[in-house]
Amino acid sequence: MPDAGTDMGMDSERIFGAKAPAPVGTENTPPSSLSSGLPADILRNFYHTKRVGNYLIGRKLGEGSFAKVREGLHAITGEKLAVKVIDKRKAKKDSYVTKNLRREGDIQQMIRHPNITQLLDILETENSYYLVMELCPGGNLMNHIYEKKRLDERKAQKYVRQLVMAVEHLHRAGVVHRDLKIENLLLDEQDNIKLIDFGLSNCAGILGYSDPFSTQCGSPAYAAPELLSRKKYGPKVDVWSIGVNMYAMLTGTLPFTVEPFSLKALHQRMVDKDMNPLPPSISSAAISLLKRLLEPDPNKRPNIHQVMADPWLQLGNPHTGVPYLNRIHIEEINHTVLLHMTEKMGYKHSEVLSAVLTNKACHTLAVYFLLNNKMKRLSKEYRVNLRHTNMSSIEAFQFCLLSLTFSCSHRRNSTTWRRRKRASCSRLNGGSFKDVYSRRGGCITSSSLEYMEIHPLYPTPQPTPQRTPTHPNRNTNRKCISMQFSNCLYK
Ligand code: ADP
Ligand code: MG
Repeated sequence: MPDAGTDMGMDSERIFGAKAPAPVGTENTPPSSLSSGLPADILRNFYHTKRVGNYLIGRKLGEGSFAKVREGLHAITGEKLAVKVIDKRKAKKDSYVTKNLRREGDIQQMIRHPNITQLLDILETENSYYLVMELCPGGNLMNHIYEKKRLDERKAQKYVRQLVMAVEHLHRAGVVHRDLKIENLLLDEQDNIKLIDFGLSNCAGILGYSDPFSTQCGSPAYAAPELLSRKKYGPKVDVWSIGVNMYAMLTGTLPFTVEPFSLKALHQRMVDKDMNPLPPSISSAAISLLKRLLEPDPNKRPNIHQVMADPWLQLGNPHTGVPYLNRIHIEEINHTVLLHMTEKMGYKHSEVLSAVLTNKACHTLAVYFLLNNKMKRLSKEYRVNLRHTNMSSIEAFQFCLLSLTFSCSHRRNSTTWRRRKRASCSRLNGGSFKDVYSRRGGCITSSSLEYMEIHPLYPTPQPTPQRTPTHPNRNTNRKCISMQFSNCLYK
């Protein structure tokens, strides 16, 4: 069992379940009593109000009816993440939510796909349920549409293609999302779609729910007509919602609207195929796909595999139909990270392999995922920073690996490691160890995979304005579009 994290904070509320190793929750621990192995500046600069297990819980990124999503910081790796905090007391007031509280986590960890947010860890205290997941720093697609009024066709094509690939992957795993809407589409650093929010998702085969489904759920603006009319429905409800999302991206509005709002009138417009007009600039190939997706008769509507073959989606991307493996293959494991976790952090080899290969949300998976990402980022940084040296990219990458390994020397025999590193640096760039590091401001520890030193306690700073995925002054406008997009079911 890893020792990482056992030195953190005081226990005030137990975390249920054996998801996280030794550390216990400190949900109500005041910020000033937090301590961790993070360097002082990281702790000082990360605004947080509390700590739960190995995670510092920071500013709000978004909010739903029962959950708040907050920025988090992993205290062992110093990597940022997102934490969805579900208030069990609030959830208790809704029998459907209470019954299905754990379903979101159960389903999300069944899935692994580049366009679906990766669930990393699940923690539970008496009052809250925490889903720890990868952070999508690009924020919500709603904000982007709001800023630009509508997306240009090429951009929409990229996002719709990625959404279709994510949904195809879900359907192949037997999962129906049932809440595909613009607010649930986030963007990562590379401007790729990341699907979130499995709160309403369902899985026929695995979790034992009957198929076809019949629960009426999701936002009516995105809901397929068969779902609105309380008929039994299947995975094609997601195909309809993709159509609504595509329309919203291309126009900044919704395909079917009624004034004043009535479910009956909305349903009628859908079955009459009475779609709001489209801007004339939209290509005929895009219109043709929209009409196929927004086909009111589910028997005539294509399934997600058929959608994947659509010419508009295939345009310029022949890889649209290539399936993605739902589980990481043993050959894809990052052995540097695996070695680091076993040799420097005290994890068992089998424990890491089991968590990664099964995709089971737990602290071991979180550490592996975050270190793997960190290593990828550092390799990229090194390649950029060392471009003006004579190093090839492979040499720069090797250099990065050496730096990562070297960083652990603080725990071991640092003199031997320093000597080995000096020799390696000279071999790689023909220059001196000092020269290479001086380009990065001598910041050797910034390349460490974990933070080694234990620092004293620091008071939590006041939040400072920074680049945020959900810009505060956009919130009011976002709400307006949100309301426009999601005409309330019970209006
Ligand atoms: P709810 O189930 O209450 O609708 P969501 O899971 O949809 O909650 O999240 C609500 C909002 O929180 C999102 O619209 C988004 O702005 C933000 N959010 C959720 N997950 C993440 C994430 N992984 N990274 C960044 N922001 C996120
Ligand atoms: Mg949501």
